[in-house]
Amino acid sequence: MKIIKGTWLFDGTGEVYQEHAVVIKDNRIEAVLPWAELPEETGAEVIFVPGTMVMPGLIDSHIHVTSSGAADPTRERLEAQPLQTLRGADVARTLLEHGFTMIRNCGSSNGNDIALRTAVERGYVLGPRILASGMCITMTGGHGWMGGRQVDGPHEARKAAREQLRAGADLIKIMATGGVMTPGVEPGSAQLTIEEMKAAVEEAHKAGRKTATHAQGTEGIKNAILAGLDSIEHGIFLDDEVISLMLDRGVALVPTLVAPYHIVRGGVEAGIPAYAVEKSKKVIDAHTRSFQMALKAGVTIAMGTDCGTPLNVPGKNALEFELMVKAGMTPLQALIAGTGTAASVCDRKEVGTLAKGQLADVLVIRGNPLDDITLLQDKANILRVVKDGKIAITRG
Ligand SMILES: [Zn+2]
Repeated sequence: MKIIKGTWLFDGTGEVYQEHAVVIKDNRIEAVLPWAELPEETGAEVIFVPGTMVMPGLIDSHIHVTSSGAADPTRERLEAQPLQTLRGADVARTLLEHGFTMIRNCGSSNGNDIALRTAVERGYVLGPRILASGMCITMTGGHGWMGGRQVDGPHEARKAAREQLRAGADLIKIMATGGVMTPGVEPGSAQLTIEEMKAAVEEAHKAGRKTATHAQGTEGIKNAILAGLDSIEHGIFLDDEVISLMLDRGVALVPTLVAPYHIVRGGVEAGIPAYAVEKSKKVIDAHTRSFQMALKAGVTIAMGTDCGTPLNVPGKNALEFELMVKAGMTPLQALIAGTGTAASVCDRKEVGTLAKGQLADVLVIRGNPLDDITLLQDKANILRVVKDGKIAITRG
């Protein structure tokens, strides 16, 4: 048994307690209690560092685990698949070291994220829990086609979804619009049709899996929602109609504000391809505005980074919390987006919150991130990372 005491305890749903502790038995949370109610003599291992917050492990709902965040990702995409998978192992360890105990991978070439997920589960490599999408499904020449499964027509879309499920995908990733990182396509333009997406979504849902959609332009976002997609990734050009559809149908937004931030900030000087820089500059303001509209309207928002895009390197993920706060979230809302809400958007409700019966993914953070959200960006402040009841990382 382990008892992890915090000066503060954030439970992942919005409650913050003073002087509480998490009691862990095997890989599950046995109780969340005030210090005063802890059993006296248990023989348990007690972890307590004064001035720390105990909270659920962080969850990044949109990531590309096999990419390093190189300024120009083209070269990595063409590398041999085993090398891509091994790079993913390095990224996975880095993410765990930074407090991320679960990630949702939204597209890898050849499905190497699926192999990586299994490798982590079996203990071959150290990493967060990984939800793997396998290859993203895109139209011929559509966004992400270089590493994606290109389809035309509902029949092929259905088959592509079935292929990912056969390979062991945890979710299906579908491209509804153009995007920044593929030359020759525009973020604003719609790509796969409603009928094509519907076929893929149907297969995912039949198999009990969720779907995520790369959707940036308004028309494509609307198509994705009408096709039954479960989450809108990026959501750059939202409008009132789209937002009310999202609210009606319970569709979540994973904004990934940090993706264009790094591209615009680094620019071509950093080696980022000019097409990506130009497109990011065009969309970055609309992206923030859409996030703010969704937040105000009460759309479910989960934290995700698109880690792996240019300069969006593993370990910098927690910058997204700061950007979400700068754009209007309270620090508490941002933390919920990266814990409890992310878990439910990822369809893994057994993590993301601290409560009896939950899987024990727990962090000990030096300081109180609700006073300073940037604390989470420095791994020196992440004193313990507990994953599945075991201490994975110890510092300080
Ligand atoms: Zn992405």
